[in-house]
Amino acid sequence: MILSHYSSFERPDRVTGEIKPPTMRGGGFMPQREDNHGKAGHGFLLVAGITSDAMPLVARIVPNGTNEAKVATAMLRQEFTQSVSSRLDPTKVGVARGDAPYSAQSFRQAAHSVGYVPNTHPVSHADRERSKDHAVRKDNRTYRINGKPNWVLTGNRELKCRCSKGATKKGAKRLADGSARASLAGWCKSCGNVNLVTGEWRKAQKKDLLVKVMPGEERFADWSIGNPLTFNDPLATKGVS
Ligand SMILES: [Zn+2]
Repeated sequence: MILSHYSSFERPDRVTGEIKPPTMRGGGFMPQREDNHGKAGHGFLLVAGITSDAMPLVARIVPNGTNEAKVATAMLRQEFTQSVSSRLDPTKVGVARGDAPYSAQSFRQAAHSVGYVPNTHPVSHADRERSKDHAVRKDNRTYRINGKPNWVLTGNRELKCRCSKGATKKGAKRLADGSARASLAGWCKSCGNVNLVTGEWRKAQKKDLLVKVMPGEERFADWSIGNPLTFNDPLATKGVS
């Protein structure tokens, strides 16, 4: 038997006007917008964590319109921690790739806590004018780094030194508690050295300045600072269309 479930809403019968119950139980609804082609309508959303060779690790089916990053964050904290973590190599750092919704701070923090470095960007790589404009704006934006007057971090989280001859290097490791830390280091003969480690920096009240996270300020950490898998990084963009 095949059942058709096409609406999450109550609806009036066309002939009698009688209010009929929703045909779909547990589903959700997302209205059509300019930029959500293929995602709008009644139904469900599958949020799945899979390995790079397509082995499913965790998955939840939730009502359409649910916040994807919140679902993924909950999965990392619950079923991933309970059932998956113990089967993975505790010495290796994983990479969690996701599209723009997964650049949320809650997801970044949860991914780090289970040994993964996120490869997600708030800017889409999509070949649309709006995305390209957004990416260029982020490239042109700069944040000063407290104590490192000759270096800036761009809106795409890339390090640049004043003379622009500096080199950068990526780092990643697992800590004793199983969490991952990534780093983005820079050095230059003229401009000196800098090393940004994920979880250790936040935006200051002056929004164009980055400062170290002090004890008690952990919830303000911006986990994208120090993440070396930046928007324009060749490794981060490998295989991304
Ligand atoms: Zn320099």
